[in-house]
Amino acid sequence: MNSDDTGRFLLAAAPGGLSIVQDLLNSASMPVASIPDLLADEATAQEWLDASLSRWGGQTGRAAPRITISRADLPALRDLRDHVRGWLTDADDPSPQVLHADVSFRDGHITYEPRGDGAAAVASLVNLEALLASHTGALTRLKTCLNPDCGAAFYDRSRNGTRVWHDMKTCGNTMNLRASRARRRETPSPQRTEGAESRADR
Ligand SMILES: [Zn+2]
Repeated sequence: MNSDDTGRFLLAAAPGGLSIVQDLLNSASMPVASIPDLLADEATAQEWLDASLSRWGGQTGRAAPRITISRADLPALRDLRDHVRGWLTDADDPSPQVLHADVSFRDGHITYEPRGDGAAAVASLVNLEALLASHTGALTRLKTCLNPDCGAAFYDRSRNGTRVWHDMKTCGNTMNLRASRARRRETPSPQRTEGAESRADR
């Protein structure tokens, strides 16, 4: 099994520590492609977390914290993932999230270490990175694919920031074709316009 879930969807990692937020979203299942939920099982969840923390460390240039997940942590982790997914679609979420960290000043920078272990430590790390990214504007570029059968999380590096598909060739074309068929069904025209589908390719 490929534990590199960014590789799972062939997607480039979001910049800096935001990759942990993207990795959390991409741990989800995708039934249409028979992709399982990595947070459904203790072993795959730990494997997912180790790979995600390693990427986070590589991207932030910091020593990745060692966090151990137990079976009891799994529901909280899946809950956290649901909350974060809601944030990206601008759904109001007034329920407060966990954030426990030790903040210190070192070598001219403020750094932090998440406190505790298990789901609480993962939540602190994810919530802190989302908070930081929401202040730099980077969070608005972390998106979930608009194809309801997909939902893969990607970082939109397009100039105008209007990308909505994780991949144009797969989800973009599929959804544009589906929309065009629906339009044809709704407005039966006396003339067939095969092959003249309009393509909104963003
Ligand atoms: Zn997609």
